[in-house]
Amino acid sequence: MKFNKELDSIKVYEAGKPIELVVREFGIAPEEVVKLASNENPLGTSPRVAATIRANADKAHLYPDDSMFELKEALSQRYDVLEETLIIGAGSDQVLEFVSRAKLHPGAKVLMSRVTFAMYEIYARQQGATILRTPDWRHRPEEFLAMMREHRPDVVYLCTPNNPTGDAMRREDLFAVLDGADPETLVVVDGAYMEYARAKDPDYAVDPREILEYPNALYLGTFSKAYGLGGMRVGYGIAQPGIIEALLKLRPPFNITTLSLAAAITACSDDEFLEKSLALHREQIGRYEAYARAHRFDYIESYTNFITWNFGGDLNSTDLAEALLERGVIVRDLASYGLNALRITVGTAAQNDRLFAAMDEILG
Ligand code: PMP
Repeated sequence: MKFNKELDSIKVYEAGKPIELVVREFGIAPEEVVKLASNENPLGTSPRVAATIRANADKAHLYPDDSMFELKEALSQRYDVLEETLIIGAGSDQVLEFVSRAKLHPGAKVLMSRVTFAMYEIYARQQGATILRTPDWRHRPEEFLAMMREHRPDVVYLCTPNNPTGDAMRREDLFAVLDGADPETLVVVDGAYMEYARAKDPDYAVDPREILEYPNALYLGTFSKAYGLGGMRVGYGIAQPGIIEALLKLRPPFNITTLSLAAAITACSDDEFLEKSLALHREQIGRYEAYARAHRFDYIESYTNFITWNFGGDLNSTDLAEALLERGVIVRDLASYGLNALRITVGTAAQNDRLFAAMDEILG
């Protein structure tokens, strides 16, 4: 059977390996498997959010409030923005899909850095758009600006902090790109990990309100990382009302579930859990930096909840990922991104102990 030709060039998105796979393949007990591959919150679900989900368990037969009034109100208070500047998606992933469908078509162009979140490319290819990448894996403002002048892309993705490398743009660099964008270019600032950047160094963090100043920019946020709700699939976009109105035309009704909506509303006021998550991360990430230094390989300074170990010639990331998997530790190999590197979500102290012990064993 024939399908749309745009699909021919798309590789199916490869998510982090699930715990179940390691259980099946290596016969390791599920409670022994340590998953540090998908940038999930190692603290688990916030107790307050879990209580909300339980309290709403008997509402599964009801469609959610499609206006998402309460969640929009909570987000508008959190970020000090108007409700008409908000769109909610089934993960920020769904908002990315709306962006692509709203702006891209065969002949349209998107610009992104050489190594960045894989879904930008997949959604662009679905629309038959042309993908342009800057030469460096870091977001270099001068490279973005030069390519924007030359190619006039329809959409530019700034993933800051960036997945899968963990680095982030300095504020002045981000604003330089925004200031240099053509009014017809939609600049997407993907802040999926922004809470971690803000906690580490405010020079590398922006506020959605600052992005709202630009009539051609969209800020993306998510409850999946610092808020610990990856499994509930709630993300949001913040932009001037003209952009939001266009994206809303693509939103299917009831695009997040009744339970997800309730969970996200509670998460918005759950600062205690957010602070705890950020504190645990701060406490643990130094161990990964120290381990890399002690074993003489590089790491990328991280502004996210993961760290990327970047190996020289001696170690091979694919072999290491496989050896870790055999020991029940799941990490993300970045070979498919053209890097000899591993992306590791910083876990709890006990999870990180397991990873270091497995590494010690592998490295002998
Ligand atoms: N943007 C970036 C940079 C991400 O890393 C992710 C999650 N992998 C997403 C967006 C999508 O996250 P979600 O759909 O869970 O909000």
